[in-house]
Amino acid sequence: MDTTPRSVTRLIEEFHRLPGIGPKTAQRLTFYLLRTSKTQVDSLSDAIRDLREKITTCALCQNIAESNPCNICRDESRDQTMICVIEEPLDLVAIERTREYKGLYHVLHGAISPVEGIGPEDLRIKELLERLRDGRVTEVLLATNPNLEGEATAMYLERLIKPLGIRLTRLARGLPVGGDLEYADEVTLTRALEGRREV
Ligand SMILES: [Zn+2]
Repeated sequence: MDTTPRSVTRLIEEFHRLPGIGPKTAQRLTFYLLRTSKTQVDSLSDAIRDLREKITTCALCQNIAESNPCNICRDESRDQTMICVIEEPLDLVAIERTREYKGLYHVLHGAISPVEGIGPEDLRIKELLERLRDGRVTEVLLATNPNLEGEATAMYLERLIKPLGIRLTRLARGLPVGGDLEYADEVTLTRALEGRREV
């Protein structure tokens, strides 16, 4: 007979559903929270609830944000003529960390992947093209991940953007192939930004 209280197994199950958390870690986290102060547990549950209630999507760059437009899109000191296209919000964090890039961003929220059934219509491509229409943007830097899906996505965007007469660039080679931008170290990423090449 299982003697573990229902609320304990419930939380273990919830933790176990998160990426990278196995059954053992899920148990450890749950029992840690049982021992910790009520204040700390409340603070954690508030943070989780706020995540869904306060976070919205920026209508311009499609990044997650607490305001719409987001802080980056509203920042007039940033170069409004350049857009860096990335797959995920975490890629933006990685590029910002280098302090090398001063333009705007556009988050696709994924990459084209026939294997996973993700097509161009599942990504925020329509929104990107919309932003390019008024002629303000003069350069688009395609910074998709250096893997199969990222390449396919960049090539697809290339075909759409080239005819618009906008300068198109890609990150320099040198990023670990098959990897994710978000895991690239700062030095490698800075070099990839500096050495960006024409398409
Ligand atoms: Zn934005």
